[in-house]
Amino acid sequence: ENALLQPEAKVDEQGKQEDSIRPHRFSDYIGQKDLKDVLEIAIKAAKSRNEVLDHLLLYGPPGLGKTTMAMILASEMGVGCKITSAPALERPRDIAGLLIGLKPGDVLFIDEIHRLSRMAEEILYPAMEDYRLDITVGKGTTAKTRSIPLVKFTLVGATTRVGALTSPLRDRFGLVQKLRFYEPEELSKIVIRSAQLLNTPINSEGAQEVARRARGTPRIANRLLRRVRDYAEVKECGEITKVVAAEALELFQVDPCGLDWTDRKMLSVIIEQFNGGPVGIETIAAATGEDTQTIEEVYEPYLMQIGYLSRTPRGRTATQAAYKHMGFKQGSSSEQ
Ligand code: ATP
Repeated sequence: ENALLQPEAKVDEQGKQEDSIRPHRFSDYIGQKDLKDVLEIAIKAAKSRNEVLDHLLLYGPPGLGKTTMAMILASEMGVGCKITSAPALERPRDIAGLLIGLKPGDVLFIDEIHRLSRMAEEILYPAMEDYRLDITVGKGTTAKTRSIPLVKFTLVGATTRVGALTSPLRDRFGLVQKLRFYEPEELSKIVIRSAQLLNTPINSEGAQEVARRARGTPRIANRLLRRVRDYAEVKECGEITKVVAAEALELFQVDPCGLDWTDRKMLSVIIEQFNGGPVGIETIAAATGEDTQTIEEVYEPYLMQIGYLSRTPRGRTATQAAYKHMGFKQGSSSEQ
């Protein structure tokens, strides 16, 4: 499997380099126009009233810039940003400690917020609503609840699975916003911006070639850029052109549309074993060895976005474009 195309994997992002290319202001955050429009108004309104920003829930596939947006919000509001993720908040005292440590107006970013434990969630409710921390001291009949006032803060939650949030938690977010996949032109801009920050010469066709294979995801675009840059430095004179990018990405076995092993397996199962579908999600999950949630939240959105897969009430079907990409004739599962 090609780790270069995994939107979740944060492995090869060398911390420092990642920070150097992460946009820090709204003006550097490319694309997501709807999201930016909503947030810019929210920021202006909060600033003019001298209030903290409403709690914000960001949802969408991994690697689209949710963490980046939380950090930008904090810097635009002129406050600090604490970053954590739900699995790190296992014990009630983990989240209590974080809340107590916040400074007025701070942004608290919780990734994978749908994975919060029930106890952690219950601590969050009064904290989000009334900026109050309720803690229970003692056990059984002698247990007492004590309330500690908290400073006002903004919770930014991120999730790939908005449907998995409990409704009391979801209802406590004033703003709920979806991030969408980036258009190829937007990804090209991101690649050009990142290349400049990495001091790597690139032309616009070179950037387009990288962007096209990045499955609509900035994190993947930046990762592919780094591999292409290595190749360009070693093999060629240094500039990333269309030819250099294509050669490098072929060497790294990146599919021309950025499809990875699982995407291809999904399509080939639907085409070869079920004559194009419809196929149920469980069958697809079993054939690929992924769980149904990952299929639904990571793989299907991109395949639908590029028009390779349709979801119908009876199951998933492969489109004509998918047949073509996989090297089959429409309606026949024999290779051309
Ligand atoms: P996850 O959902 O898995 O937490 P994420 O959506 O928070 O991922 P980030 O880590 O914020 O993803 O983004 C990955 C990288 O992509 C960032 O370091 C940044 O360099 C780049 N990036 C993301 N969005 C943009 C954007 N709109 N413009 C420019 N670069 C971006």
